[in-house]
Amino acid sequence: MDVMCPICDTVESIDNDSPLAKKLRNRRKHLYLCQACHDRIEKNTLKRHATGQFNLYEEKKEEDPYLS
Ligand SMILES: [Zn+2]
Repeated sequence: MDVMCPICDTVESIDNDSPLAKKLRNRRKHLYLCQACHDRIEKNTLKRHATGQFNLYEEKKEEDPYLS
């Protein structure tokens, strides 16, 4: 079956009998992501987590008593 990546509109063919194809047929809301976007999102998520920890540290440092 053909699946389209909602992020970059890449159409990829996946095996009709693969577990992923069955999942996509059964659950229409399940989004298919091409490998490139999947990798990118995974990297961004990891980066965001790292940034989030950094921000948390920065916020603590710059705590303003007049704003709380
Ligand atoms: Zn994609």
